Amino acid sequence: MGLPFPIDLYDTLGAEICRVGERMWRQGFCAGSDGNISARLDADLILITPSGVSKGEMRSDGMCVLRLSDAALVHGQSPSSERAVHLAVYKARHDVEAVIHSHAPKSTAWACTGDPLPDALHPEAELLLGRIPLVPYVTPGTGLLARAVAAALTPNTAAMLLANHGTVTLGDSLESALARLEMLEAYCRLVIELSRIGRMRRLSEAEMVDLLALKRDVWGLADDRTP
Ligand SMILES: [Zn+2]
Repeated sequence: MGLPFPIDLYDTLGAEICRVGERMWRQGFCAGSDGNISARLDADLILITPSGVSKGEMRSDGMCVLRLSDAALVHGQSPSSERAVHLAVYKARHDVEAVIHSHAPKSTAWACTGDPLPDALHPEAELLLGRIPLVPYVTPGTGLLARAVAAALTPNTAAMLLANHGTVTLGDSLESALARLEMLEAYCRLVIELSRIGRMRRLSEAEMVDLLALKRDVWGLADDRTP
């Protein structure tokens, strides 16, 4: 029996996931077999990385295929243990084409403080990431984490911190989900550095109103904080 999806699209997306994984690994975002990456294959199928594999040494033909409607594994072996988180994001947000979960060190360090990330610090982070929710801690690899992530998602969420755990970024392509992870990690590095300095000037309410108007009117992007 043939595969229930186009093999050329599986190969193309699988190769792209390998490239993204290698870039994450090179930047030190994935120790051991940390992290998982997925991409939408069609309306009801996603490709997802297998568990227990270094993101720096994946094979494009090793990707697993999951069905969104019933979470069934339709191709491959041992899909990522955080697959429920990925499935929950695709079900909640039909515009999302790719999801990355990582333990990138600066982001994870801040997530282990248990404090929400301060916003209104840097204009490009506001434009490209927007409000970054902190998902309360629950035991990883359980349906509870998927439910907590889904509850924190809004139609505008681009990146999230998982308390005492790591990150989730999403996008309309693998490239976009990776770019948001890199931006989130850089933003957390900035916030940690500011915490060491011991003071920070946050953008004023008027400056934020101007910035969010630019985001809406020029960039065409909605934001949780824009009416
Ligand atoms: Zn994790």
